[in-house]
Formats: sequence, C-alpha cells, structure tokens
Amino acid sequence: MDLGRLVSEMREWRRHLHAHPEFGFEERQTSAFIAAKLREFGLDDVAEGVGGTGVVGTLKRGNDNRSIALRADMDALRIPEQSGLPYASRNPGIMHACGHDGHTAMLLSAARMLAEEGGFDGTVRFVFQPAEEWGKGALAMIDDGIMRRSLSKRSTASTTCPAFRSATSRPVPVRSCPPRIISRSSWAASAVTQRDPIAATKCSSQPVRL
Ligand SMILES: [Zn+2]
Repeated sequence: MDLGRLVSEMREWRRHLHAHPEFGFEERQTSAFIAAKLREFGLDDVAEGVGGTGVVGTLKRGNDNRSIALRADMDALRIPEQSGLPYASRNPGIMHACGHDGHTAMLLSAARMLAEEGGFDGTVRFVFQPAEEWGKGALAMIDDGIMRRSLSKRSTASTTCPAFRSATSRPVPVRSCPPRIISRSSWAASAVTQRDPIAATKCSSQPVRL
C-alpha cells in the first residue's frame, strides 16, 4: 500500500468532515460519507442506522471465528469555529473541536488498509459511534444490539475528550474477556492521575480492577 497516498486521503477525509460537522444523533451526512467509503473499500458488510446514526463495517478474512472491534466517535460540538481555515466549519455554531473528525479519518484509514492488505485471520468490526459528546451514543449502539452483532472479544476506544463515559463503565456482554470491569469513568490520556481504561482492553479470565 502507498502510505503517502493513504495519508493524503486521510487528510482530505478529515478536512471534509471538519468542514461538515454534525451534532450527536444528527450525523446523517457524516454516516453516509463513512458508509460510502467503507463500501468503496470493499468491506463484507456495512450496517447503517445502528443506535440511531451509527455505522458498523465488517471485514472478514480467513476462517478463524475470533473478532475485534475498532471504534471511533463522529459527532461535533455546539461551538462556533473562528479559525478562518479553508476547511473551517460550514455549519454555523457547530465545530469538530474535540477531534472526532480525526478519529473518524483514522478509523477509515485502518479499514482501507486492512481491506486492501488483509494479513489477519478473523473478523474486524469498524464501529463509528454517534453522540459521544453527551454520553448517549455508546449505550444507544449497545441497546441496538451491537455487542450481539459483533461478538467481539475485545474493543478499544479512542477519544481525546475528558468526558470518557464509554460502555466500559458498566458490565456489557463482551464474550470471554474481560468478563467484568470494576472502575470509575476516566480518561486514558490522564491515566497517570486517574484510572487507566486502556488496561480494561487486556484479556483476562478474572475481573479487571482499575
Ligand atoms: Zn470528544
């Protein structure tokens, strides 16, 4: 894969998303953009409208029944943009001020690379979550059955926000590992001063205490 080309595409996607921010559960253009890209990459399945405006792409290679979920959030904040940049928000009063445009572009890049190069045996789910900023989107996707759909043994969350209130804050039906996570909500970037949620992604047959 031409990484230079992928980086320039990722920048283009990020700037497109930055120019067209949408608030939580209103990410219709964003999710349509994501779904179109995933289909273009040749994923095996693309589900839209998961938990409202969420998107889940599925990529299978080989025969192994193991799976992993990679997740990004995609909503913006009600903040007017004053940057003056050529790709500044075109939606008055709304801005990608928390980096979800970057998260989405990074996950799209991972989907593109894995779809093109493979190199794994199992299933990868690409989870694009709505409404992270007000803490409703993850639960909406869970209530819509995403954990039953994905059957993922591990999931990772990427966020630059202090408002880390992901599904790991309560027991969820993740198969095998970890069976239970006991902790307070915290932010991975402040793991030195708070509990480290990244430790929750480690596989263990025992309850994980953070
Ligand atoms: Zn955020």
